[in-house]
Amino acid sequence: MKINRGFLQLNDRYLFSRIARKVQEYRGEHPGQEVLNLGIGDWTLPLGPAVLTAMERAVMELGSAETFRGYGEEQGYAFLRQAVCRYYAAKGVELAESEVFIGDGAKSDMGNILDLFAPESTVLIPDPVYPAYLDTNIMAGRSVKFLAGSRENRFLPLPPADLRADIVYICSPNNPTGSVYSREQLKEWVAWALAQEAIILFDSAYEAYIQDPDLPTSIYQIPGAQQCAIEFCSLSKTAGFTGVRCGYTVVPHGLVRDGISLNELWLRRQTTKFNGVSYITQRGAEAALSERGLQESRASISTYMANARVIAETLRDLGFWFTGGENAPYIWLQCPQGMSSWEFFDLLLHNCGLVGTPGSGFGRCGEGFFRLTAFARREDISRAMERLRSRY
Ligand code: PLP
Repeated sequence: MKINRGFLQLNDRYLFSRIARKVQEYRGEHPGQEVLNLGIGDWTLPLGPAVLTAMERAVMELGSAETFRGYGEEQGYAFLRQAVCRYYAAKGVELAESEVFIGDGAKSDMGNILDLFAPESTVLIPDPVYPAYLDTNIMAGRSVKFLAGSRENRFLPLPPADLRADIVYICSPNNPTGSVYSREQLKEWVAWALAQEAIILFDSAYEAYIQDPDLPTSIYQIPGAQQCAIEFCSLSKTAGFTGVRCGYTVVPHGLVRDGISLNELWLRRQTTKFNGVSYITQRGAEAALSERGLQESRASISTYMANARVIAETLRDLGFWFTGGENAPYIWLQCPQGMSSWEFFDLLLHNCGLVGTPGSGFGRCGEGFFRLTAFARREDISRAMERLRSRY
């Protein structure tokens, strides 16, 4: 038996364990000193009544033989796929129900989609970015090229003319940089992908944080994208489903390579390897996409975005260079005086009792940068910013 040696090429997932160890050491040295955490990439507010009521009702339905549900369609119940179609229609994007696949979140689908591509496919990944794109490709033994983000391109790299690849990941709004591609920039990516017959894997996990009406919230708002892009989104960061687990992936019928429909391949893959998402969860997701559910989520997102504004204002006053915070829950700052990401982490922890995430954990180009998140209680954000102003 030969193991998949791709696993041996992975970096240790040391980022969050190293952060936890440093915080523990600091607490040991400074008992009683409160540590404020602006490093969390997770929803913190409770679920709203629309979702809770729908899930409670669904639970009760399972308790009666007339309304009991067993195995469902692997790609999701029609009621939820239709709700996703309506959500897209409100953005001006027409989708067929059969182009929408319900899953347990963007991370799983983005890893699983790799089943569709030949092992020798070349893959392009932005740097810095959400680490799962790289790790899933390394596990699959694929060679990866990086698209360098920098202060100069505001962490929004565009396709160089001579660039060749089969698959490119685009994350907009980006985790960790909070940068969002404009319509014109996405047009460039779509034109590049169509010319190369490449596939864009578009991660719109944070689309609900986009406040500027001119910024695209879906790649399909760009003409031609239905011939070259798969979009992944989830209710994790749009409706607080990080624990409940529900997402959706759009594979348009227009996506055909070598005469083969990727939609049909993905359907075959999902019906073979995936059991679908629970009925209770899907009823909750349907409610999250209803007018009332969307209103409740928007209220929570407004709270986070108000937090982001408080952080951004403080950083501006203190003279930091940063991106994000306007259309994303992440703020990405350049560490002062040429400090490395970990040096700045130590400084913030020791001078201010503040925790953030070192940018180097998201790729080489993240070295010298640092991520703060808006996912926290307002009081904690305000206190954290006071400490930054007075002690940094
Ligand atoms: N994509 C990005 C950019 C993320 O930051 C995350 C989670 O933090 C995910 C996808 C995964 O989300 P999900 O909970 O839907 O798997």
